[in-house]
Amino acid sequence: MAFPKLLVLGTGGTIAGAARSATGKSYGAGEVAIDAIVSEVARLGLDVELVAKTIARIGSQDIGWDQWDALHREIAAAQGDDSIAGIIVTHGTDTAEETAYLLDLTLAAGKPVVLVGAMRPTDAVGSDGMRNFANAVQVARDDRAAHRGVMVVMGDAVFAAPDVRKAATSNINAFRGFPRGPIALATPSSIDWFAPPHREGSSARFAWPEALPRVAILTAGAGMDAKPVEALLGIGCKGIVIAGMGQGNAPRVVLDALADAVRSGVPVVRSTRVDEGLVDRNVEVDDDANGFVASRALGPAKARMLLMMLIASGITDQERIQANFDRP
Ligand code: GLU
Repeated sequence: MAFPKLLVLGTGGTIAGAARSATGKSYGAGEVAIDAIVSEVARLGLDVELVAKTIARIGSQDIGWDQWDALHREIAAAQGDDSIAGIIVTHGTDTAEETAYLLDLTLAAGKPVVLVGAMRPTDAVGSDGMRNFANAVQVARDDRAAHRGVMVVMGDAVFAAPDVRKAATSNINAFRGFPRGPIALATPSSIDWFAPPHREGSSARFAWPEALPRVAILTAGAGMDAKPVEALLGIGCKGIVIAGMGQGNAPRVVLDALADAVRSGVPVVRSTRVDEGLVDRNVEVDDDANGFVASRALGPAKARMLLMMLIASGITDQERIQANFDRP
């Protein structure tokens, strides 16, 4: 019997990292070729055929348009290829949430698409890469993973793209989900789903754009003034996400400058620098009067991705932007 075929797209990260010491601290992300990783996985006896392709060999802090464009093209083609059962993307953990969410917004929901990374390089003692990869294989080949959009597999847990974020710098259980926690638990020998597929509709929510606009995240800090907002407008930002205090608050002078930005045609989304929780409209900040959008469940990194997609799709008015944040 033929084994299911999975496409593996390598981008780098710690899952492809090498330290050349089992106990050392420093290492290089993306140094191990995806073919080498895939041949190691093939030895695990997972009854699957893996076809590897290199997109990049970088730390995901350097990921951007070129890699996203290539990933989107390859995954969309694989989704239309009947011989491929699912797609795995190996990715650095720093920005896995951004890539996962961008792809989730722009790909059909049919075949499983799974991002997987690691917190420890391939040659570190207790490296988590092989296990996470084996878990990702379980998800990508599972029929029940279909129609769930893009997922991130880390530390035996499966997260949906709109929920997932990196919450610890080095712990192997570094990922959390909000508002939903893991949607499944996966190990190399088992997978347990906790809920039916949640994604609305199976077609892509946004067409893949020609380019993404410059949108900045500005973190609010006590005692700050309005100069950083002016600086962002000065470099031509097309949108601003404020990582505000608490429920997306910021000093009055900053909010006044952001309201000016909205009046000049630059959409402003209020998110939060707090780890978790909703940012709702019109709590302490008068969003109606200022023309702001409340990010609801999206933290700053994913709020920026959604705002970029909306602006790239020609959606710049407050009401329609808010409607999209109400449905992340
Ligand atoms: N900063 C690198 C990256 O995100 C390594 C971190 C990791 O993959 O865990 O690719």
